[in-house]
Amino acid sequence: MVINLSEQHSLITNWIAELRDEEIQKDKMRFRRNLERIGEVAAYEISKTLPFEEKETQTPLGIAQSKLLSSQPVLATILRAGLPLHHGLLNFFDKADNAFISAYRKHRKDGSFEISLDYISCPEIEDRILIISDPMLATGSSLVKTIQFLKEEGKPKQMHIVTAIACTVGIEYVKREEPFVTLWCGDIDDELTAKGYIVPGLGDAGDLAFGVKVQM
Ligand code: URA
Repeated sequence: MVINLSEQHSLITNWIAELRDEEIQKDKMRFRRNLERIGEVAAYEISKTLPFEEKETQTPLGIAQSKLLSSQPVLATILRAGLPLHHGLLNFFDKADNAFISAYRKHRKDGSFEISLDYISCPEIEDRILIISDPMLATGSSLVKTIQFLKEEGKPKQMHIVTAIACTVGIEYVKREEPFVTLWCGDIDDELTAKGYIVPGLGDAGDLAFGVKVQM
């Protein structure tokens, strides 16, 4: 299932417009905060689809019937660009466990690249709800590799992916490789450059959030 959060009018479309705007992008704090806000709203939307259970809560005046999340999800992200979106999800799923994966594009001289994964820190994920954040779903190859990497640690019972901007090619690839995931997209663009950048997209999310890196 693919959900485009920009299909309905909401504050999300304002935040996406600010993320894309090359003038507003100069304010890194605003760029990170907008990603974080999208993570927060995505967490709220995802929470509506999760199992809840009834519990009695003792107030100072009596007993209230409460509905509480049945189990805590695992939030996973890909370093470094995923950190602000992840932080937003964690602001709302504030008791979640967390997983971190490092994945980067190793560029060849001809402009092509391969995805290199070399670090994972992961709690128990067997039979749990896994929510993976990746701000830019471009080709989908780093995301699919990450999912396969995580699945070696355990088989989650549900998987959600949260992105700020996804490209249609990447969405199709993820759907083909991982048909049971639910994709929550801040917005969807159609074009991808030969170097794997989304158009119009927003540029390099990691560089815009944390500064331009020197490694290629
Ligand atoms: N990663 C980015 O940061 N931007 C893109 O356009 C694609 C992948």
